[in-house]
Amino acid sequence: MGSMALNLTRALALMFAANILFPGVSTASGSTTVCGAPKIASTKTVGQKKSGSGSVLSGANQQLFLDAKSLYESGRYWGALTKLEKIIETDRDDPAVYLYLGHAYSKARKVKEAARAYDTYLQLEPDAPDAEKYRTLVNVLQGQQRNEPRPVSGAGTASGDYMKETTATGLFRWPDSRMPIKVYIEPATAVPGYRPEFDDVLQHAFREWTTATDGKVKFEIVTNRDGAEMVVSWTDDMHAPELQAEAGKASIVQDSEGIKSAEIQLLTVSPFKDGPVGCELLYNICLHEIGHGLGLMGHSPYPEDIMYPQLSVQTGITPRDARTFQVVYAAAAEALKGGSGSSSPEETADFDRLSPANKAQLFLKAGTRAVFAGQYRESISKLEDALRINPDLELAKSNLAVAANNLALQTKDEKERVNLLHKAIFWNPGMEAGRQNLNSIVETLGTNPTDPAARVLFANKLEKENDLLGACVELLEAERLKPDTARATRAAQLRQKVLSSI
Ligand SMILES: [Zn+2]
Repeated sequence: MGSMALNLTRALALMFAANILFPGVSTASGSTTVCGAPKIASTKTVGQKKSGSGSVLSGANQQLFLDAKSLYESGRYWGALTKLEKIIETDRDDPAVYLYLGHAYSKARKVKEAARAYDTYLQLEPDAPDAEKYRTLVNVLQGQQRNEPRPVSGAGTASGDYMKETTATGLFRWPDSRMPIKVYIEPATAVPGYRPEFDDVLQHAFREWTTATDGKVKFEIVTNRDGAEMVVSWTDDMHAPELQAEAGKASIVQDSEGIKSAEIQLLTVSPFKDGPVGCELLYNICLHEIGHGLGLMGHSPYPEDIMYPQLSVQTGITPRDARTFQVVYAAAAEALKGGSGSSSPEETADFDRLSPANKAQLFLKAGTRAVFAGQYRESISKLEDALRINPDLELAKSNLAVAANNLALQTKDEKERVNLLHKAIFWNPGMEAGRQNLNSIVETLGTNPTDPAARVLFANKLEKENDLLGACVELLEAERLKPDTARATRAAQLRQKVLSSI
């Protein structure tokens, strides 16, 4: 490689990935049945309306009902649910629709909703020949609800929210101007383990978010990837580190108005056992990842919430999830106000009276705005201010790494370029683009980047020059190439020194 043939990679996307960890999901829970397997006992009683009772569905709803029935009968209960719920948006007095809804909710293990649907059926058709049977069923379902193990949730009263926990890495929201969010779902027929029901489950999950947010977020499924703002893909590849022990991941990209795009990846296979993922678990995974994609990047501390990091006992979006969404969106709207201005955080009214967390948040926002505007030096300074207050702000770290990497590309001075790339790797050791760039420049400076001994020599030189951050990164790079306990300890000590001096 010629000495000037630097192969520098620009890092453009600001991303924050959130993953679900489910170490605790038990395969013996009985809630991981695979969807499909049509078993319909009572469909013959459906759709036979007695004269004088019920209603005639409108033309469009009749078609929806036919579609729902055929989905149901082929075992695609989630797909049927989406159609049936659509019907009752406009037609609420056809008993047959509620009977099918009850069946489909039962199959989807939505016990509360099933009981409610059967109950509505009975109200609409009190003298149905099968009324007694469904009265008994409603009682059984209501009993099940009461007997369902309710996890103890500490301070999680119905009135609370978990805004603090879910915004630990920043406040994010989709701006109203980007509604409905255009969602593109990658075709997955060739992905092993994928079944058409998965698409039903996913689409139903989008629907539930719209319902739970009172229509604040809306989605439009588009058939073309170009112009899509949220892209969902399916994979059976658990080799991706994030997916190895987790069933989904989501990342968002934002600009000065808020979130502008999101990517969601979902596993078609269960990470907890061999074989396909079950629909009930998948539904929870979809809801959870969409929640991240909407900007709830952290997790709920309460096990019954859909944003709890381990999915097992949840039965959809809880009132607390919905409330948290509302307060996060309100706060993020406030924070993004005047977002395009160039005023610095210190000029904010009452800056001195703000809590450290809020100050850090303002610096994070200013630094993030700056990196999008290509003002990398400004961005680095603001993000360092944020990290000085709260060294755990993951978004500040990853954005700082992006800013440092991109500034390095614009810098002619080789010494400064190395410094910036060291800074990028220091704050985000997982940044491969930055690592490639660093290796490339290290090589042009005469150090073999793949030789751990050479990296240690470089580290020693930097430490003598009092470049502790650079020395730390070089030691860590040597460590990646060849682990060594003494070296790791020295690197950790250097890291501590750097952190205490920022
Ligand atoms: Zn998560």
